[in-house]
Amino acid sequence: MSNVPGALGRDLDAYWMGHALAQAVAAGAAGEVPVGAVLVRGAEIVAMGRNAAIARHDPTAHAEIVAMRAAGRSLANYRLPGTVLYVTLEPCPMCAAALVYARVRRVVFGASDPRIGAAGTVFQLLANSHMNHRIEFTGGVRAEEAAALLRRFFRARRGRGGRGRPPSPVDSASWVDQIS
Ligand SMILES: [Zn+2]
Repeated sequence: MSNVPGALGRDLDAYWMGHALAQAVAAGAAGEVPVGAVLVRGAEIVAMGRNAAIARHDPTAHAEIVAMRAAGRSLANYRLPGTVLYVTLEPCPMCAAALVYARVRRVVFGASDPRIGAAGTVFQLLANSHMNHRIEFTGGVRAEEAAALLRRFFRARRGRGGRGRPPSPVDSASWVDQIS
């Protein structure tokens, strides 16, 4: 899935996605839905983020938002032009809209989200004619690794008999079933 022609930079995408996957692993280890993100400009990481909604008591603390907030502080700019965001799971509508507001240049994601994906799977908010900025995007980069993390996480959670916290934003048995 991509609105960028060709496969240029595929190896580079896979490399940066490795950093996002490491963030996803860290999120899962902390009991959060394992999704990670890294924001890159040129050949440098500007900021990293991982799902932290439970720990921060913040429903907006998705990996992408966490990374964008850190980047904004780091760059002292509310816009992030010229950056590429790598995230292990297709952005949700909230994050996709925030990425547009931030003027992120390109988004690369791993697994598609058949429940609420907003990079074309369910909604298309990254490249939408109603929005005043459109983002190039590429999906499916190291998707199986990203999906495997999510599957393991939800299986382990169900294995505990469903105890614990209420569902997180991407916590959906239907999502797991569809991606399996
Ligand atoms: Zn999100």
